Amino acid sequence: MTLKEEIQRRRTFAVISHPDAGKTTLTEKLLLFGGAIHVAGAVKSNKIKKTATSDWMEIEKQRGISVATSVMGFEYNNHKINILDTPGHQDFAEDTYRTLTAVDSVIVVVDVAKGVEAQTRKLMEVCRMRHTPVMIFVNKLDREGRDPFEILDELEEELKVSVRPLSWPIDMGERFRGVYNLYKNSLDLYKPSKQMVTESLRLDIQSPELENHIGDRLSEKLRDDVELVTEVYPAFDRDEYLAGKLAPVFFGSALNNFGVKELLDCFVDIAPSPREVQAEERVVDSYEDSFSGFVFKIHANMDPNHRSCIAFVKVCSGKFERNVNYKHVRFNRMMKFSSPTAFMAQKKEIMDEAYAGDIVGLPDNGNFKIGDTLTSGEELHFKGLPSFSPEMFKYIENADPMKSKQLQKGIEQLMDEGVAQLFTNQFNGRKIIGTVGQLQFEVIQYRLLHEYGAQCRWDPISLYKACWIESDDAAQLADFKKRKYQYMAHDKEGRDVFLAESNYILMMAQQDFKNIRFHFSSEY
Ligand code: GDP
Repeated sequence: MTLKEEIQRRRTFAVISHPDAGKTTLTEKLLLFGGAIHVAGAVKSNKIKKTATSDWMEIEKQRGISVATSVMGFEYNNHKINILDTPGHQDFAEDTYRTLTAVDSVIVVVDVAKGVEAQTRKLMEVCRMRHTPVMIFVNKLDREGRDPFEILDELEEELKVSVRPLSWPIDMGERFRGVYNLYKNSLDLYKPSKQMVTESLRLDIQSPELENHIGDRLSEKLRDDVELVTEVYPAFDRDEYLAGKLAPVFFGSALNNFGVKELLDCFVDIAPSPREVQAEERVVDSYEDSFSGFVFKIHANMDPNHRSCIAFVKVCSGKFERNVNYKHVRFNRMMKFSSPTAFMAQKKEIMDEAYAGDIVGLPDNGNFKIGDTLTSGEELHFKGLPSFSPEMFKYIENADPMKSKQLQKGIEQLMDEGVAQLFTNQFNGRKIIGTVGQLQFEVIQYRLLHEYGAQCRWDPISLYKACWIESDDAAQLADFKKRKYQYMAHDKEGRDVFLAESNYILMMAQQDFKNIRFHFSSEY
């Protein structure tokens, strides 16, 4: 196969959802079709259940498992599929945001009864920022849920994307009969079963045969619904989908393995191959001969005796090869890797080559940071994802004076890994850690102790948001910094950050300092 063919046949995506909508179940069914696993129940989910908030054993176990299931690669119909797993727990939302920088498209799972939930909305914002093509799977049709038209309206409104159903459900809950596949014009009959059996009949919707399968009443309803669908929604336009403006919608039941194969078949057909990537210097086309890639995730090994990490590299262009020298752009140094790993199904194995779209795992002991770029030699910097303002803040203090070096090193490395964000108060030099959830503080404390032998203590600080500030009006900026000196901090890169105590104070600041721009993410 030529380089071009190898790249063209790759599909790298993530399945995202609000917890419990069915992400894990759907992923598992996708793997079944790819022959990557053979029995249902083989995929352990990478999620830390809400109940496990302070259950350390559980967290460790889950983290261990999640290395294996971070990326699941398999072959399907001559396509190489890479599914990137994302943590379900919302306290690790940052992890998910970063993973979204490494995918070429996304499948969103929505519960038919619950509709769009908070986490779905947030993740979709990131997809919109990056113009990531999105496909939606409305799940749990075997249960009672909302009217499909109502769900579509909600998807459109809440996710701010146009939608186009490509399948249509025939009743739901106990009376669920299946879907009519508008993409293939087939009638897919539902039989509750955990195995892969769907009776799929190529059948024109007007065919009188429809009545033989689902009866008069449902046939009439289905024809009416489909007529309405074609009137209300424009024909599916792949370019719109690829531009991230239009989301095709499928209905099914992941648990019963219904509608999943149809989703996958359509997905490999229409989902994008590795897309071009914007580097600071230029646009990098995935089909270029020379290799380039970036680190989007670093996974620490929890075994304290071997403090090694795996850096996950998304190959953006060309081909990556084992034992070939590549440039670590930040270090301006050539490096080669003797044991890069590929992720096939659940096992990791040493690989010799990988193509644009693939994820390579590089064993690492401190050489990599999130966002680092590797190339065949060119000076390239891929734009990562901005940091968003954290939701929770605490002072981090040293609780063991003998170990202050270890603490500092630990904090530095954990921040490079992207576990949380660090702000240093410009006035008193105190370090403030910002997270999206309580669990992250616990993970940091635990890992500092177990991996670095350092003890930390959390001191409360009451903050509302961190805003990155800038202005063309140097005098006003200086005045602002002088007046707010107690609340000015530097982020990891040394940028100015204003720590607002409350929404009110922030609003007042915005009002009083009109020439200052307040940003809630680090890229502007
Ligand atoms: P995740 O948190 O999004 O990964 O959700 P899971 O895949 O773990 O599913 C959450 C719960 O919903 C589990 O109990 C699943 O068995 C159940 N579930 C998933 N898909 C379906 C479905 O199609 N129908 C029904 N009735 N339950 C489902």
